[in-house]
Amino acid sequence: MSYVFVVDVQRKPLNPVHPGRARRLLTEGKAAVLRRSPLTIIRKTAMPDAQPDPLRVKIDPGSKTTGMAVVNDASGEVVWAAEMHHRGQQVKDRLDQRRACRRSRRSRHTRYRQPRFANRRRREGWLPPSLESRVRNILTWVERLRRLAPIGAISQELVKFDTQLMQNAEISGVEYQQGTLAGYELRAYLLEKWERRCAYCQKTTHPLQVEHIVPQSRGGSNRVSNLTLACEPRNQAKGNHTAAEFGHPDIQAQATAPLKDAAAINATRWALVQRLRATGLPIETGSGGEPSGIGRGARSPRPIGWMRRAWG
Ligand SMILES: [Zn+2]
Repeated sequence: MSYVFVVDVQRKPLNPVHPGRARRLLTEGKAAVLRRSPLTIIRKTAMPDAQPDPLRVKIDPGSKTTGMAVVNDASGEVVWAAEMHHRGQQVKDRLDQRRACRRSRRSRHTRYRQPRFANRRRREGWLPPSLESRVRNILTWVERLRRLAPIGAISQELVKFDTQLMQNAEISGVEYQQGTLAGYELRAYLLEKWERRCAYCQKTTHPLQVEHIVPQSRGGSNRVSNLTLACEPRNQAKGNHTAAEFGHPDIQAQATAPLKDAAAINATRWALVQRLRATGLPIETGSGGEPSGIGRGARSPRPIGWMRRAWG
């Protein structure tokens, strides 16, 4: 059951109260409704010596929904919980629609405008709008909850991959650098994407090698979208052939489609942690104890510099 948020007359957050107690405060005329969602009441007097218990916001960011909860660390009680539905796909659809409109207008040649080339750079730290929307949804709610409840800390689910690199690899379409992503993240990501099996014989029992779908000798790139996993015998047999020539035309299509949800979650989580830091609250991220994730990202010079430029 969700408690009711309480603020005093100066809008200082107080301890959330049980709905029964909130009802009594309202009927006794000691409080009024400030907000209906999430239900918040405002005390009619200042409570200068109130010592509210610090609460913790827990966030579990997902691709379609994000779970949020406010918990009392001291008692372990869940004070408030909610699930947020993101509009990622909706954002993308609207932008696709806009793009189609503009393309159609251009091809109709109804007016002449000089081509523009100088304004095509994206600022650093740019996220695709569908992901940006997810991050901002969460930040909006964290800010809102901070105004309504005495929030003292934030917890966020683990960032599984080094998402800055992930984002470069597939979301923005930037080619990954051999030696940067060639390590734990790349392998882990490919294992996840190809369900830990050989793409050509579907066996899960053999050790897997990272394999170029279009061989490098034939102009294949190092992009993650050109990589798959294969067992040694199939990798050898494929040799200098493309996957299509090797009898697996479907693999190319599967490789080009990024692991959308995972990529979205990862990119979002990473960006989210960085922006939540700006709130000044202590942030705890789930500890998976793996070499990737926040810890490593924070130590390696590239992501942190990138983030610093992006978010100050
Ligand atoms: Zn195989």
